[in-house]
Amino acid sequence: MKQTSVTGYPRIGADRELKKWTEAYFRHELDRPALLQHAAELRRRQWHRQRETGVNFIPSNDFSLYDTVLDTAVLFGAVPQRYHDLGLNALDTYFAMAKGYQGTHGDVHALPMRKWFNTNYHYIVPEIDGETVFACGSEKPFAEFTEALEAGVRTRPVLVGPFTFLRLAENRSDKPLRMLAEELLPVCRSVLLRLEKLGAEWVQLDEPFLVTDLTEDDLALFRTLYDGLLATPGRPRVLLQTYFGDVRDSYTQLTGMDFDAIGLDFIEGTENLRLVEQHGFPEGKTLVAGVVNGKNIWVNHYEQTLALIHRLEQAVEPGKLVLGTSCSLLHVPYTVHNEPDLAETFREHFAFAEEKLEELAELARLSDDAAWATDAAFLRNRAILARKQDAAFRFNDVRAAVSSLRENDFIRRPAFEERRAIQKAALKLPLLPTTTIGSFPQTSEVRALRRDYKAGRITAETYHAAIRQKIADVIALQEEIGLDVLVHGEFERNDMVEYFGEKLDGFLFTKNAWVQSYGTRCVKPPVIFGDVRRPGPMTVDTIAYAQSLTDRPVKGMLTGPVTILNWSFPREDLPRREIAFQIALAIKAEVADLEARGIRIIQIDEAALREKLPLRKCDWHAQYLDWAIPAFRLVHASVRSETQIHTHMCYSRFEDIIRDIDDMDADVITFEAAKSDLSLLDVLKAGHFKTEVGPGVYDIHSPRVPERAELENIIRQLIAKLDIHRLWVNPDCGLKTRGMKETVPSLKNMVLAAQACRK
Ligand code: GLN
Ligand code: ZN
Repeated sequence: MKQTSVTGYPRIGADRELKKWTEAYFRHELDRPALLQHAAELRRRQWHRQRETGVNFIPSNDFSLYDTVLDTAVLFGAVPQRYHDLGLNALDTYFAMAKGYQGTHGDVHALPMRKWFNTNYHYIVPEIDGETVFACGSEKPFAEFTEALEAGVRTRPVLVGPFTFLRLAENRSDKPLRMLAEELLPVCRSVLLRLEKLGAEWVQLDEPFLVTDLTEDDLALFRTLYDGLLATPGRPRVLLQTYFGDVRDSYTQLTGMDFDAIGLDFIEGTENLRLVEQHGFPEGKTLVAGVVNGKNIWVNHYEQTLALIHRLEQAVEPGKLVLGTSCSLLHVPYTVHNEPDLAETFREHFAFAEEKLEELAELARLSDDAAWATDAAFLRNRAILARKQDAAFRFNDVRAAVSSLRENDFIRRPAFEERRAIQKAALKLPLLPTTTIGSFPQTSEVRALRRDYKAGRITAETYHAAIRQKIADVIALQEEIGLDVLVHGEFERNDMVEYFGEKLDGFLFTKNAWVQSYGTRCVKPPVIFGDVRRPGPMTVDTIAYAQSLTDRPVKGMLTGPVTILNWSFPREDLPRREIAFQIALAIKAEVADLEARGIRIIQIDEAALREKLPLRKCDWHAQYLDWAIPAFRLVHASVRSETQIHTHMCYSRFEDIIRDIDDMDADVITFEAAKSDLSLLDVLKAGHFKTEVGPGVYDIHSPRVPERAELENIIRQLIAKLDIHRLWVNPDCGLKTRGMKETVPSLKNMVLAAQACRK
């Protein structure tokens, strides 16, 4: 029978146990041996679970107390000296790199964190400097392999491969990557040999960097590393594992090298099937075909997958095709069994990590069976998929509205400069207007209020009255601080996407479908299960109430369609473009209602717009921006000239899509700039960026109170680079994670600084 392989498994625990244990450890409520003991038990349970469902290649070392890229940095000895200097034990040194350390041993920042390819997971960016000496610096992969073996499971250890490691690391040394590769090679060799000695037959090296646009230098670097590694006498067999895309730049090179197996993603890797069929797959080697989606939460479509497998069988030697997950299952929740509140009519359509293991086993069996079409498992799958149409919400009015959209629906008139003059006259704002991004500190009192309301411990009246009081307080506070454009504070919102998802038709919410985001932090994205429709106003009463308390403009505060889509689990029976347009129509209706109630400025947040930009540049427009930007434009295209549209983005790393951002045709954009260098401003200037801009003048992620002089200095730098008449003054993101203690003086200093600069 065909064999099966799992690329990686979730590690947070079905109940997020790992989060609870590590947090208890940080609070000194759990000691180190207990933490390590719990983690070992979690790993053992998961190995056994995988073995019970019949997985043949079970990974080890896919576990991590924080992040596997950080684990790899430690394994390779890339621990910057300042962390060693703290003189902590190995575990605490590790956590110091992950989270920073402030205490009796010293004061160091954490290493930076970055998005892991096109996922919502964030990895720790390794740092290589002039002092780095690569050397095997941890026991982790060896200990975990042995631990599994002792538990009766011979695993395939997983390592982040040296190519991806070097390409993701920040190289602060003056050595070129080629030289670092030569230095790293002996360490990689010794790791492989030691694993082999312990009994590992296979080692999996993850090289997702191979699915990005590669240069000649990249290909040469890859070759240096792997020609060297694969030539190691006595090494275990090596699986080169890729995921999140296809290997179009390197396929012929990879298949010509000495790998024992190559893992390809046939879900996101749109070119992989063509590559295999066109160029063939080398004899004697194994293809691990990622056919079960490691990122979505839906039941696999067996008929389509079996057709794919049967095509691959034509290209691969008998017995050499292994079925796998398209990527690590880290990106999906544990099991639908943890969703007792979900009606069975919905639940049967979901497949999380455990269910995907079963799918793998069934697909392996069915693909070897000539009579698969009459097999009970196949028929069951087909019946479930057939029921999906009926289970999903369908709103014909929404479908009709989307299909009747015309070009004009995406164009706001009059054009930017003309309406800008109209807005200036109508709003009468001072030079360098001051504002905030939306939320104010979510104190424990506010959170308790929402919790009590949700649990039915307080009545709707009590809840709404309390929220109104908070709004009244924050409006008064902002007037006192002297801000020009006010916000209502977002006290009624737990999360900027969940809030709207709960008010819209078409979304489902889970109880336990947590997915790791960074460290042991998780998110629980809502599920888009059908057509999206707005049953009624979502924010209008709240915003209108806030506006009734002041003469200054209060911003209507909405989340944009692209961000709602990107931070949800989307349905897959409709193109993303269409889902985005459905959401856009719902938000558009909200914009119209806000306007009708006299709201003069409306902010539509697109915090996550940059996030889902495809990995390959050639896909940026066709697969993403060509509908994402129009979705935003659709939301505001029909507002009055007087109404000013703002948007906000969290990442300022949008130099490369600056034209597209300007094309959103908002009147004002605020974004995070405080932490990045000010080079973006040069790009804005050079690109004749028309949209007015509010580059955040201070970092809200830190409790530090910026001084007035410091802020004045930053504003002056902004004025020196950009047109003062198009400049706003604001913090770099919402204030909800901050305390009032630092927020009030920070905002006061910001307003004073702006006032000083106006003169
Ligand atoms: N308006 C939101 C807030 O202030 C924006 C949050 C975000 O950009 N992530 O909280
Ligand atoms: Zn933000």
